[in-house]
Amino acid sequence: MQTLEPFEKPSLSRAVSRKLQPGLGLECDACSMAIKYSAKFPTNQIIANVYDGNVWQKVVHYHEECYQQLDYPYGEPIPSQPYAGKSRYFSEPA
Ligand SMILES: [Zn+2]
Repeated sequence: MQTLEPFEKPSLSRAVSRKLQPGLGLECDACSMAIKYSAKFPTNQIIANVYDGNVWQKVVHYHEECYQQLDYPYGEPIPSQPYAGKSRYFSEPA
């Protein structure tokens, strides 16, 4: 006779890191500085979907360094698939 372990529901809030792309004009939620694209120093941005309970609240963006300094408030960022411009299987999550 087996009892089912309670399913441990992961927090829905999660973060991904993504190669920064030009022209997005985003602001870092931690330092309020623009997250600027630099072709010379390509950087990752952290994109976190924030949920309260099951209700989606917002998307926040961070510099990768800022997110690290905050000690991963939305979990360790999951590297998103590298953008493959030619792949027809690539679809951008909304
Ligand atoms: Zn920042």
